[in-house]
Amino acid sequence: MQTIVKTSLTPEQYVEQDYHKQVKPPENCPNCGRAHSLEALAYYERYVTSVLAVLLIWVRRFLCRHCRVSVSCLPDFAQPYRADHAAFR
Ligand SMILES: [Zn+2]
Repeated sequence: MQTIVKTSLTPEQYVEQDYHKQVKPPENCPNCGRAHSLEALAYYERYVTSVLAVLLIWVRRFLCRHCRVSVSCLPDFAQPYRADHAAFR
């Protein structure tokens, strides 16, 4: 599943600052609601379209220790435009 991370960064800044490495896990699992249950899992790449270009960014993923659901933390400029990313779960 996916959650949106609020950021004031542009896609370019997100890439320049390696912001994906700074993304903190959500306080509660968006699936089972348990607090402090998310552990770092991995990253995956996805394309985002900015006003200037199409950029490839890294998206942080976490795994819930309780329900074993993976949670992708998308920056808010990369609002899901399709629901076809199930392959990354
Ligand atoms: Zn959970």
